[in-house]
Amino acid sequence: MSTQDIAPMTSRERVLAALRREPVDRTPVCNPTSVATVELMDLVDAPFPDANRKAELMARLAATSYTELGFDTVMPVFTIIQESSALGCKIQWEKKDNWPTVRMTEPIWSEPEDIKIPADFMDHPDTRCVIDAIKILRKELGDDVAIIGKTMGPWSQGYHCFGVERFLLMSRDDPDKTKRCLDRLKDLTVAYGIAQFEAGADAVTLPDHATGDLVSGQYYDRYLLDLHTEFVERIPGPIILHICGRTVDRMDSIARTGMSAFHYDSKNGAQESMDVVKDRIALVGNINNPQTLFARGPEEVRKEVYENLDAGIHMVGPECAIPLQTSIENLKEIPLAVKDWHKQHAAKH
Ligand SMILES: [Zn+2]
Repeated sequence: MSTQDIAPMTSRERVLAALRREPVDRTPVCNPTSVATVELMDLVDAPFPDANRKAELMARLAATSYTELGFDTVMPVFTIIQESSALGCKIQWEKKDNWPTVRMTEPIWSEPEDIKIPADFMDHPDTRCVIDAIKILRKELGDDVAIIGKTMGPWSQGYHCFGVERFLLMSRDDPDKTKRCLDRLKDLTVAYGIAQFEAGADAVTLPDHATGDLVSGQYYDRYLLDLHTEFVERIPGPIILHICGRTVDRMDSIARTGMSAFHYDSKNGAQESMDVVKDRIALVGNINNPQTLFARGPEEVRKEVYENLDAGIHMVGPECAIPLQTSIENLKEIPLAVKDWHKQHAAKH
């Protein structure tokens, strides 16, 4: 698409237009998961684990995505365990240089009937923190930047609350029981998403880890296609679905959910993914984390950005939450490369 006739946009306008697959002045650089790093934590004195538990620090660290890296989005929900903590899972909060995790060896539920949503779910400090951080970001950054929230899908929540192995065995042996679990968990995803839009989010990421290496494409159709379509109807704003791994075999189904965007992994080529989804859903990603962003240099980052832009991807960014030791230099290269690509592209016309 030619971008030369579009008037300059703010970051927020650019991201919202891309989520609607409308024309943009340039491709937005978007972070639907986390770009928090140890270097950024030091820079603004907002380290893990406090930056996952105190709204003011969470907002301060999230803002660096815009103020330091030059991305078009900020994303304060660095972890995938805020809701799990409020549900009663045991959390290993870790230190500055490590991600907090759910202690999977101590699952809290084993049957669908065990699923109980605490009445104070939204007021738990670890869910409330996200809502407050979004409000702070909107107040301090104004309307220039897109704020992305995150509400975990029921499949991911199943892993956390039942244990990955038990949940996957159940999904293989007892589809009815599995569906009852997902049904009991889905309202949580909806309610938390709505609360984040009310707090000022422009979009929410919805991770639901039916990942390529754990479940097949048929599983997506059996368990998640209808549920994800329901989320689009019930959550009043753009949703970015996030599933890691190789997912080309389920992208056609994902494109039919009505979600605004799919955050896709570098295990999927940019062009082959575009060929499947066509113009039915925006794609965002898919710069490789463990090799390119973490272990290589700006030159390799730039090459992957160009591959995505050449394929017509709607938004560019890391494929998933980046390793905490990633260098700022590599992250800054993403927006620089996007701007250069557009300059070269415009010059050719
Ligand atoms: Zn991921």
